Amino acid sequence: MESRHLTHMRQAVKLAKYALDHNETPVACIFVYEPTDEIIAYGMNDTNKSHTGIAHAEFMGIDQIQEKFGAENLVEIFKDTVLYVTVEPCIMCASALKQLGIKRVYFGCGNERFGGNGTVLTINKDHSTISLNENKTYDAIPGIYRKEAIMLLRYFYVRENDHAPKPKVKKERILDKETFPPIIWSSYIDRSLFGQEFGLENLVHFDENTDLAGISNHGIDWKLIDDSCDDIVDTLEITRQKAQINIHKRIKSTK
Ligand SMILES: [Zn+2]
Repeated sequence: MESRHLTHMRQAVKLAKYALDHNETPVACIFVYEPTDEIIAYGMNDTNKSHTGIAHAEFMGIDQIQEKFGAENLVEIFKDTVLYVTVEPCIMCASALKQLGIKRVYFGCGNERFGGNGTVLTINKDHSTISLNENKTYDAIPGIYRKEAIMLLRYFYVRENDHAPKPKVKKERILDKETFPPIIWSSYIDRSLFGQEFGLENLVHFDENTDLAGISNHGIDWKLIDDSCDDIVDTLEITRQKAQINIHKRIKSTK
């Protein structure tokens, strides 16, 4: 797998950890403009603060792009933009991304209840939702920092219990750090795309529904999800503003 996928997904995981530390659901994403490999937007779940069920990470990023480039340029930007998100986009977000004509999605773990990129529905490949970009479908590649994404959700789940109005005397929710469900690659991509993305030498993982080896030495990068990263939002903000200005110039000059 190309190392830039790991680099970008690490940023998304750090942002999800930031969300967790600020009492939000630990789901986060970054949008990368592929021709320049720059982060042009980022997002994290904001449903608690905004009190709306649709304030998903993806929408925060889409808003940032729309604000900078205007609605009329969204298709132009999105056709070259790749999304990295810690949890598979839900059906609603998967559909929005399709309408905008996103180039490709990479995600960590599947979204068991609402996943729209293969777990529940496969919106990215269907033909009933429209795309502004010539009805284009997109590939959604799972499994990058999957265990880390699952662990952040488990941290949230256990912690949420601590905040309950009446804490249960007996702790029913125990943090599981050992067991992970298999990853059913074929729900998301076929064998040949897997080979292209992750290398033919890794096809055994596709066949055996196991996680990719070598993302971290011990199976899970604990440091990535346990260290606090309170500077991540400032870092991403500076990065995306710089990138947006560059790309804005680039697009204007090609018109
Ligand atoms: Zn969503």
